[in-house]
Amino acid sequence: MYKQRGLLIVLSGPSGVGKGTVRKELFTQPDTNYEYSISMTTRSPREGEVDGSDYFFKSRAEFEQLVEEDRLLEYAEYVGNYYGTPLDYVNATLDAGRDVFLEIEVVGAAQVRAKVPDGLFIFLAPPSLSELEDRLVGRGTEEADVIATRILKAREELEMMNLYDYVVENDEVTNACDRINAIVTAEHCRRERV
Ligand code: 5GP
Repeated sequence: MYKQRGLLIVLSGPSGVGKGTVRKELFTQPDTNYEYSISMTTRSPREGEVDGSDYFFKSRAEFEQLVEEDRLLEYAEYVGNYYGTPLDYVNATLDAGRDVFLEIEVVGAAQVRAKVPDGLFIFLAPPSLSELEDRLVGRGTEEADVIATRILKAREELEMMNLYDYVVENDEVTNACDRINAIVTAEHCRRERV
């Protein structure tokens, strides 16, 4: 098959649905063929997180500079911190014919949708809202007021699933990964016509 620009794969969904867990599982599978775009954030590292591997941790001033210089494909302020996708990395990787995988929240995903309409947009959905709330409380890394804010946000975020190409229910991490891999394979078959 002839070589063309890589596919931009966007995985989004509400906070606490397990996007990070699904993404990590996908990238531990030996046959995963996507490049993960490491995001920039102004949030403080959690215990065990490594700069340049989990995120590029930036000060607010550094982040605002990146925005000013138009060096982010998208960015959003999420529960008091900025998160954004480095534009140069994404473009260079796609140009090299490699698929790029973004795991981002819904406001940023909507920006990518506007800029890259031929991207592949996958919404990771919880089996139910009550299960999502349990997961947000159970994660235990956040203070109570942050959890409450995230639950409110998650309800709004769920309403955006209709804007996506595919909805994948995260009943089990391995099932969700299988479905995402199947969707990406199908998209390649659909697009790569000679
Ligand atoms: P956390 O603080 O739990 O690592 O991430 C909070 C939220 O930010 C998650 O929903 C995560 O998917 C999202 N996120 C991570 N990186 C980016 C990014 O580059 N852009 C946007 N818009 N959201 C991101």
